[in-house]
Amino acid sequence: MSWQTDDGEHEGWDSTEFPGDRFSVGGQADAVLVRHFPPRPGPLPDRKGEPEIIDRRQAPLGWRGLCECGWRGPLWERADSPGEHDFATRRIWSSDQYAPEDVADAIREEWRAHLEPETLTEVRRQAQEAAAAQDRLARAVRAARADGRSWAEIGAAAGITRQSAHERWTRTTEDARGR
Ligand SMILES: [Zn+2]
Repeated sequence: MSWQTDDGEHEGWDSTEFPGDRFSVGGQADAVLVRHFPPRPGPLPDRKGEPEIIDRRQAPLGWRGLCECGWRGPLWERADSPGEHDFATRRIWSSDQYAPEDVADAIREEWRAHLEPETLTEVRRQAQEAAAAQDRLARAVRAARADGRSWAEIGAAAGITRQSAHERWTRTTEDARGR
């Protein structure tokens, strides 16, 4: 799977990484086509060049996003057993050489993020954190309502008026009750 920008300047893909600084550029029925990372950060070797062919049973180190511009995403490390699988710490179990779908999706997101300026990445990051904080706040309000607290009390605790608190959270608490 590869992804390209409209201007053709960036072409990225989710690559399987193998020991010896080798990354996959494609696959066949019983083999993986790999190339070697250049010794220094910089543009990656042309994927259409002559690849090395390795047995597909060889265990990968993990997966990461790569882009022809030279960008390398952080590694999603392959876990040694299903019990060690933990998406949050990027330790991933896969029974074959391919990254599971949710990891491939996450890698694509990482690739997309490398296309935008750092200032926009920071906006994205902060917006995600703000949304998470709003969710936690709404949960706390639901708990307070369940505990019999009035909108005036909740508003005072949140630093807003009774009316504002009611307007802002009435639906989340009603929804919760309806469930
Ligand atoms: Zn790129």
